[in-house]
Amino acid sequence: MHELSLAQSLLDIVCREAARLSAAVRVNAVNMKVGRFTALDRDALSFWFGLLAKEQLGTAPDLVIEEVDLVVKCPGCGAQERLEDPPIVCPRCGNGAVEIVSGRELDVWSIEVDEPTPTAG
Ligand SMILES: [Zn+2]
Repeated sequence: MHELSLAQSLLDIVCREAARLSAAVRVNAVNMKVGRFTALDRDALSFWFGLLAKEQLGTAPDLVIEEVDLVVKCPGCGAQERLEDPPIVCPRCGNGAVEIVSGRELDVWSIEVDEPTPTAG
């Protein structure tokens, strides 16, 4: 996993969204959903994101990462179960050809911004 390039693409999304809202918004926080199955180093991502955001936005929003459980569905026995750890096999029948329902997410879920206070008059 390349946390630096990921941090940059994350920031691109944030900048684009912020620009779409208004040039003057201040981004307070970025909420992400990250699956357990992604080999993401969160500390590295937070570090690079903070650094790049300071350079490019002039501020470092909070990066809030919500972990998404790894859920698999077994075509063999029909079980849909949450897995704590690899290996990715059906916990009921041991089938290795399971379908991953969730756990691979790497999404920006929402962005929290401060709208500029409208000036009266
Ligand atoms: Zn099964």
